[in-house]
Amino acid sequence: MSAVWLRASALMVLAVFSSLALGKDKQPTAIVVGGGLAGLTAAYELQGKGWQVTVLEAKPSIGGRSGLASSEWLGSAKLQPVLHAYLERFKLKALPAPDYVRTPGYLIDGRYQSAADLAKSSPSTSEALARFDQSLDDLAAAIADPLNPLASHTLKSLDALTAARWLDKLALPPIARALVDQRIRSRYDEPSRLSLLYLAQQARVYRGLPDTELRAARLPGGSQVLALALAKQLTQVKTNARVSAIVQEQGKVTVKVGAAGYSADYVVLAVPLPALAKISLTPTLTALQHKALKDINYGWRDQMLLKFKKPVWGKARLSGEIFSDKGLGMLWVEPAAKGGANLLINLSGDNARLLNAFGDRQMVDQVLIRFDEHYPGAREQFSGYELRRYGKDALIGGAYLAYGPGEISQYWRLWEQPLGRVLFAGEHSDALYPGTLEGALRSGQRAASQAVELQAGKTIAAPGQAAKSAAPSTPATKHDKQAKPGFFARLFGG
Ligand SMILES: Cc1cc2nc3c(=O)[nH]c(=O)nc-3n(C[C@H](O)[C@H](O)[C@H](O)COP(=O)(O)OP(=O)(O)OC[C@H]3O[C@@H](n4cnc5c(N)ncnc54)[C@H](O)[C@@H]3O)c2cc1C
Repeated sequence: MSAVWLRASALMVLAVFSSLALGKDKQPTAIVVGGGLAGLTAAYELQGKGWQVTVLEAKPSIGGRSGLASSEWLGSAKLQPVLHAYLERFKLKALPAPDYVRTPGYLIDGRYQSAADLAKSSPSTSEALARFDQSLDDLAAAIADPLNPLASHTLKSLDALTAARWLDKLALPPIARALVDQRIRSRYDEPSRLSLLYLAQQARVYRGLPDTELRAARLPGGSQVLALALAKQLTQVKTNARVSAIVQEQGKVTVKVGAAGYSADYVVLAVPLPALAKISLTPTLTALQHKALKDINYGWRDQMLLKFKKPVWGKARLSGEIFSDKGLGMLWVEPAAKGGANLLINLSGDNARLLNAFGDRQMVDQVLIRFDEHYPGAREQFSGYELRRYGKDALIGGAYLAYGPGEISQYWRLWEQPLGRVLFAGEHSDALYPGTLEGALRSGQRAASQAVELQAGKTIAAPGQAAKSAAPSTPATKHDKQAKPGFFARLFGG
């Protein structure tokens, strides 16, 4: 179908500017599909190297998954160096997070408790949470290099297990288990859908960095502000341009948008995997890539901003990363725009999937009813909402990559390898920081460098054989250790 389309539209190609057709020294060209942070970064970096770049974004505006109502927390510069480097370059000032949001809190039976409160009110829950942290750290410590989590047979077998099965074995008391489940589903996905190796690999990436570094700052306006700053530097950004097909032939790539075609030397495909599955590629993806598109697990997260005339929660602190035992997800208070009070709620994992069948207002009502039980009067004071349902959005299809059991073994670093003149970017294609702004930016930079290398006639080595590990250089501490003897045997029920 694509070849037929290509012939038929030969006269309609709007922007054929293949440098190869015109001579070696001509300006190289690229089309970037997807105007999220990954695509915008790839475009910005290529343009900075003298390339002519066109960004095609399906939606009316750029920014992709950039959060709702400035809801993201930024990690510290140590944790997210690429993000902070761009913020500095564009003179975007992040505000330091107040101390009280830097550590996680708990909402148990509707009552907020800090970690210190919990240690007093329920020492057994607190101890069980510490036991979980320690056990996860033991697993993380067994991974020498987070870029190579499949280094041993034993680590490979962690990929066959779900995080839920491992938690069952830890036998945490019910409230601690509910809080841990909530933490995992808020950050990744439902424990029963998550590879234990992925949980451990992510813990390894952030190992040695205190929790306070995770929520170190906030960017007024959210990451959308960074998306706009990147886009402002670009000469060609086309919105409402949904790409349906990409055809590679005779040293160029042609991209179809409606009845129009755009050609260039290279294409950076920076769309989430469920959206990629809807684009026809000629030549087609490899069999493994096709399988990955069908299989790979995406977390599920819906964001809901509830607006109230006044803060019905009184003096209760509902700000920062707060895990509830009732599956309400993270909550935090938004600075209200004009008086009143806003509350941002993330519904994650199966809690969100369950509400999938509901309409927007029905879904908000379900949360309001629960909220009103703990904070009477909430429904009366309710004045409106904003909702983002990432899983229902055909151009996204989920929250972000969250490897399911067996998936790291099959698909590790699959999307870092170009397909001819097509390069892949997006948070899902970053091995260390998937599901984050940092991962999206890093993937855009990587795709841009790969395009430059290909243009220079180089080949791209398979990721495992690529230059030395770019793993975070967390200094070894006295806590570092290899797996204790018998550790894995205990894990697998020995
Ligand atoms: C609820 C939620 C909260 C988050 N919170 C944080 C946080 O606090 N901190 C953090 O670091 N990260 C957070 N993240 C993750 C972060 O937002 C993402 O990792 C990042 O925005 C992904 O960027 P991307 O460019 O890879 O993809 P996207 O932003 O999804 O960009 C892809 C773009 O491609 C477009 N597209 C799709 N199909 C086509 C097509 N056929 N043609 C043209 N365009 C197309 C889409 O419209 C979209 O604009 C959060 C994510 C979610 C969902």
